[in-house]
Amino acid sequence: MSSPPCQGIFLWARGGVWYDAAVKETVIVKAGREKSLALRHPWILSGAIDGVRGNPGTGALVRVADRKGNTLGWGFYNPASTIPVRLVAWGNAPLQADFWKRALRRAIKGRELLERDPDLTAYRLVYSESDGLPGLIVDRYGDFLVLQTLNPGMEELKAAIAEFLMETLPARGIVEKNDGQSRRREGLPQRVGLLIGEPPPESIEILENGLRFLVDPLRGQKTGFYLDQRENRDLAARYAGGKKVLDAFSYTGGFSVYCARAGAAALIRADASRDALARGQRNLSLNGLSRVPDNPIRDNVFQLLRTFRDAGRRFDMIILDPPKLAATVAQREKAARGYKDINLLALKLLSPGGILVTFSCSGGIDAAAFERILSWAAKDARRTVQVLHRLHQGPDHPVRLSFPEAAYLKGLLCRVW
Ligand code: SAH
Repeated sequence: MSSPPCQGIFLWARGGVWYDAAVKETVIVKAGREKSLALRHPWILSGAIDGVRGNPGTGALVRVADRKGNTLGWGFYNPASTIPVRLVAWGNAPLQADFWKRALRRAIKGRELLERDPDLTAYRLVYSESDGLPGLIVDRYGDFLVLQTLNPGMEELKAAIAEFLMETLPARGIVEKNDGQSRRREGLPQRVGLLIGEPPPESIEILENGLRFLVDPLRGQKTGFYLDQRENRDLAARYAGGKKVLDAFSYTGGFSVYCARAGAAALIRADASRDALARGQRNLSLNGLSRVPDNPIRDNVFQLLRTFRDAGRRFDMIILDPPKLAATVAQREKAARGYKDINLLALKLLSPGGILVTFSCSGGIDAAAFERILSWAAKDARRTVQVLHRLHQGPDHPVRLSFPEAAYLKGLLCRVW
């Protein structure tokens, strides 16, 4: 049962306690700039703001209106951000008193299939704007949840949300991994540690498609594991039987462990992080896959691929999963050169009929641009490249039609002649 709407009042929280707060401030949108809101896009950029009524604090929930005073929606306010308003609701209906809990429940319900999968204990429970909760990331790792709050509004709600999740879900403890660049851009401090419940062990053992991985949320990258690649690892492994596989940017061996289970003849894992490589080794042995020849190499992949080229090395399958090379459209050119460089080198290293699995997680480069970059690389490498699969982030990282910006991960699985 949902509570009745409360006129001019919405649910807010401080220090873990929910309360009714009155909306006092309004952000006015310039004439002509309401269109994206009508399409339910969640961002209002500073250039679209006509003015502000009242004096909303950083992180306040504001009403968004047009110049005539019509309410267009509700959103988090942060004047210091390049995106000063992030909408949480559209239209003129006031927020329901249980608005946040409903949004959280819906996000959780959307992961039911994953939750029921006995071979899976790690997945994303809440994915920010895609779940109508801008700036909130919640990842499940077995009995523990890892939470990120990426704007001041969501930061205010953090404690109350953590408490609600503890009540609603089976979870032993929730930690925050609030150390990313995006928080810095929003003027928020870096914070990593326990929020509520039991502290997790240093390494949490998770199950992904029946494979075991050790995840260390507080010290690892992102929230500890690249959950967005789950389906792609599974698919790539189907091509790995009998192959000599170069897993470039391997992190803790996600792709390698899948390929080893699928019968890869040999693994060459390359990453800049010694720690990630060591964890990869542990993940292989945790799955009883230590017998597969495995050669971890700590190096800069951009350099290593050149060394391999000069040495005339050949591989049957290459996975390229680099970190984000372009966070923004402005860094696109430089990133495009980086992607072309590594893909060109990888294409040269593949034996005829070999498989290239290549990714970009850069928001600034869309799928069409990425495919274009690969076609330039193919031309320069003088190789014929057939796309067998177009890849993207898994279904626990959904993309709302009204917010295509959420589709950051794109990839191609190709056969190379
Ligand atoms: N494929 C992995 C995720 C890769 S994340 C998985 O499925 O889990 C990107 C990885 O690239 C990180 O582990 C990071 O340490 C590594 N990295 C970043 N820059 C690098 C560089 N120049 N050379 C080698 N590794 C790099």
